Amino acid sequence: MYTTSPNLTFTHAFTDRLGGVSEGIFASLNLGEHLGDDEKCVRENYRRLFEALGITKFAVAHQIHSSTVLTVTSADAHELYAPNPCAADGLVTREKGLALMVKTADCVPILLEDAEHGVIAAVHAGWRGTVAEIVKNAVSSMVSLGAKGENIRAAIGPAIGYECFQVGEEVTEALSSIGCGSRFRPDPENEGKFYADLKGANCDILLRSGVRPENIWISPVCTRCQHDKYWSHRYTDGHRGVQASVIMM
Ligand SMILES: [Zn+2]
Repeated sequence: MYTTSPNLTFTHAFTDRLGGVSEGIFASLNLGEHLGDDEKCVRENYRRLFEALGITKFAVAHQIHSSTVLTVTSADAHELYAPNPCAADGLVTREKGLALMVKTADCVPILLEDAEHGVIAAVHAGWRGTVAEIVKNAVSSMVSLGAKGENIRAAIGPAIGYECFQVGEEVTEALSSIGCGSRFRPDPENEGKFYADLKGANCDILLRSGVRPENIWISPVCTRCQHDKYWSHRYTDGHRGVQASVIMM
């Protein structure tokens, strides 16, 4: 159902495909509300996950591959299948008992906490969010709520790996422009194609944002290689569910 990071102390989870009730291309733990899955199954999947983690309310944004990070409270708590007015790719709170969720299927999920000052964040970073440095914005938002950079612990969750994320020049140019020119290499078999390391790029940005190297954990999982256990947009050509990354004080 989920894995955790060894460096986070608050309740959190990176979910996988296992342990849900959805069928077909959504089998089995799909947490996407509007992907064509049976609503009853999705609600049951959420019920199982939230029961396992002790979650009773959560915030989630309509994700738009932006650099936008919103500070949320219980007033922003989401009801399943209700309209969601929040458009963003990062959420931050200092409110206890409010879980923050981002959804991914190859993109990079990043969970952050400052346990001493009581601030958490959840970030969705595909290549656009990565090069827009959304994780830097998340750290800034945490600091504005009282967190200290040197206290922040970050967990970069299961996402598509370096060896599987083939991209074009629009991605490598954007990575170079933010000082992440070491996070891609040419594809020797395809002229004009490259492989990009989104987890590594987000790690670079976290370090530049003041997070200490010993406070960053990176999941070794490649969602495309492990498509039996994780949702992979690339492997399924988009016919898939989503996993969630969630954190709560
Ligand atoms: Zn892979």
